Amino acid sequence: MYPAAFDYHAPKNVKEALGLLGKLKDDAKILAGGHSLIPMMKLRLAQPKHLIDLGKVPGLSGIKADGKALAIGAMTTHWEIESSSAVKSKLPVLAEVASVIGDPAVRNKGTIGGSLAHADPAADWPAAMIALGAEMVCEGPKGKRKVGVDQWFLGLMATALKERELLAQVRVPLLPAGSGAAYMKFPHPASRFAVVGVCAAVTLDKQGVCTKAGVGVTGAGTKAVRAKGVEAALVGKRLDPAAIEAAAQKAADGVDVQADLQGSVEYKSHLCRVFAKRAITEAVKRAGA
Ligand SMILES: Cc1cc2nc3c(=O)[nH]c(=O)nc-3n(C[C@H](O)[C@H](O)[C@H](O)COP(=O)(O)OP(=O)(O)OC[C@H]3O[C@@H](n4cnc5c(N)ncnc54)[C@H](O)[C@@H]3O)c2cc1C
Repeated sequence: MYPAAFDYHAPKNVKEALGLLGKLKDDAKILAGGHSLIPMMKLRLAQPKHLIDLGKVPGLSGIKADGKALAIGAMTTHWEIESSSAVKSKLPVLAEVASVIGDPAVRNKGTIGGSLAHADPAADWPAAMIALGAEMVCEGPKGKRKVGVDQWFLGLMATALKERELLAQVRVPLLPAGSGAAYMKFPHPASRFAVVGVCAAVTLDKQGVCTKAGVGVTGAGTKAVRAKGVEAALVGKRLDPAAIEAAAQKAADGVDVQADLQGSVEYKSHLCRVFAKRAITEAVKRAGA
């Protein structure tokens, strides 16, 4: 199906984009890679009268490392992250996540900012952002503000982004020495979206005891969530197989697991536990335990 008619705007800078957002209000939608918005428009699930394309706005894409974090522009594509040497050397789990999103066409056009603003419950980035404790940098008429990932995902396709704001950057903290991170998902066989996906990041001390853990779960519920019970069960323990198994058993706790065409609540809860165990096991291995 064709989308409903719309006017197309191509602002040349952030100020112009924010001006258009302020003027056109609810009638406008930001266009990034278009790989979630355009399909929704074709199905007439979204019918914006105006599209504000960020494609020609400078300064919204690219990856910079500043010693503490990777600062990733919202318009950076999944492929740019997958292939970035800075990402591969400083936070390789991000390249791992990017590499399992959709197919090459999706990865070449889709952006990290578009994914995080869209907040699809089966998207991959949310699990990684939660595990790594990312921060969203939003830009609006009153300037910039930062939102921690735990305050970002509000519900099904709902985020803390305010009207007339755009997502400008994502800041992902680097992991300290002795850390490892991994992302494991059970992909939908057609779209590759996560039926369930789990990202785990662990930091171990010299004795192999876990001092910090971050675990994000996507796909199972209406939004990605932090698996707090798993994190609490990991910290303070030597992460041998028994400790990992016990922690992973808590992976579906606190997730509003939804039955859908992909599986029942029981099946998807089981996948949460299985993929949590796999992601934590790999993260521990990568931490050098
Ligand atoms: C066939 C197919 C398979 C896919 N498989 C996967 C998969 O396996 N895993 C996965 O995670 N995703 C998958 N996706 C989704 C893909 O990753 C999209 O690229 C992503 O969800 C949205 O990014 P985008 O840049 O295309 O955003 P768009 O589609 O342009 O925008 C999406 C929404 O976010 C808003 N938006 C975009 N950028 C900003 C911004 N900077 N500030 C504020 N609002 C903004 C838009 O207004 C719109 O509402 C798939 C998509 C397709 C078509």
